[in-house]
Amino acid sequence: MPMPYPDLILHNAAIHTAAGTPSPDADAVAINAGKIAAVGRFADVARLIGPATVVLDCGGRTLIPGIVDAHCHLLAMAARAGQVDCRPAAAPSVPAVVAALRDAIAAAADADDGTHWLRGYGYDDSPLGLGRHITRHDLDAVSTTRPVRVEHRSGHACVLNTVGLVAAGINRSTPTPPGAVIQRAADGEPTGLLLEMSGWLSERIASRKSAELKPLANRLLAYGITAVTDAGPANGIATLHSFTAKTSAADFPLRITMMAGWPQLDEITRLGLRYGQTIPGTRVTIGHAKIMLTASSGNLHPHPARLTAMVSEAHRRGYPVAIHAVERDAIVAAAIALMDAGAIPNIPDRIEHCAECPPDVIDLLAQSGALAVPNPGFLHYDGARYRATVPPELLPQLYPVASLLAAGIPVALGSDAPVVEANPWAGIAAAVSRRTADGTNLGGRPVESVQTALALHTGGARIAVGQRADLAVVAPSPFAAPPERLPDVRSALTIINGEIAWRNGI
Ligand SMILES: [Zn+2]
Repeated sequence: MPMPYPDLILHNAAIHTAAGTPSPDADAVAINAGKIAAVGRFADVARLIGPATVVLDCGGRTLIPGIVDAHCHLLAMAARAGQVDCRPAAAPSVPAVVAALRDAIAAAADADDGTHWLRGYGYDDSPLGLGRHITRHDLDAVSTTRPVRVEHRSGHACVLNTVGLVAAGINRSTPTPPGAVIQRAADGEPTGLLLEMSGWLSERIASRKSAELKPLANRLLAYGITAVTDAGPANGIATLHSFTAKTSAADFPLRITMMAGWPQLDEITRLGLRYGQTIPGTRVTIGHAKIMLTASSGNLHPHPARLTAMVSEAHRRGYPVAIHAVERDAIVAAAIALMDAGAIPNIPDRIEHCAECPPDVIDLLAQSGALAVPNPGFLHYDGARYRATVPPELLPQLYPVASLLAAGIPVALGSDAPVVEANPWAGIAAAVSRRTADGTNLGGRPVESVQTALALHTGGARIAVGQRADLAVVAPSPFAAPPERLPDVRSALTIINGEIAWRNGI
């Protein structure tokens, strides 16, 4: 039987083959029915052209497997479109934060009935930002009639104004939820600062639903991203519905793996949803069970003994776990819990973030058998803040991708957006250079090559016959560009399942 005519042929491309270096023997690929059907010289591949084959000249740009962001938060990213930017670059002082929020109220005055929550994001209490946390009193200067909520840059803290505290039902006698902090002044009144309470709040505050995912999709596709893992700690049936509705409407062509929030694991398994299952007619797959392990309250939460029981319970339901662990003590506890619980055969558990990894912690991580999912993009975007707030001897141990690899630990890279921008090329740049956005070297071992770092961001995909046609055509060439130019790499053509999802310049 002759080979069917390809749907699409890309030529005049530098092709990143399995070996990692651009191949001199191939400058074209043919794609058919969502798969790569041929890789070779255009002179040969051109013989396959049929009457309906689309042929695109890549203009010498570099063809790579589509990028996978192994850890991000899609709905939070999309929600930011309607929120006020309170990051230090936009609002460098407390009065500037207040002014930005007041401006947003004024701008929306006739479009809004005044009862919706006004939300801001990204304030930074560190010396590089405001130098302190905001309080309810600061935000009462924004509004005394409308609830206001401003998220800390970490996503693990937020501040409500007085109306907001009342709306959420928080007063001086509200008991503190486990693992959380309701900060109180000397007189016992809440200051407005809440740590680790976003899940608690979302159960009590109706949020404006259904953020637009289309602009977000385009932003991700422009980086060459074709698949994301949503690591929402409260992902359940409602989140799944919003993802499947969007993806079937083609608003969001990227593949989504949705982790199952630990608190929602029961409702998810009751519906018969299994780990690894792709929802029919969509590009949404059910991923690991997400467990938050935090140290914000001064103690690990949940307690290590409880953590092991949670891991075992998830495994019993057929779900591997992804444990959120940023601080050294949390990573140690996560690794030990995974060792105590044992793994589901051939399905590694994951440890998310792995920010503080001195050598002894790396040894434990290696013994745990877990997939580590660090976020080297933080070194790029937040490196200056780390230099101001982290003891210098610890800087080389932050997100040490190369040291994890050297210890034999499997690694996948995630952005953790929207905490920082979802640009995977910034993370790759930091992994291979250990440099911040302003060019300062933080020390520590760099990943040996862009090829190696990119492979951690593509899920091991290759450009070879029979592989899934999730591809991006990027420039400047990541393999030739100096590290400081890597964050500027963009896709001119992003293809998912053989279909053009993004096109800009080809
Ligand atoms: Zn996250």
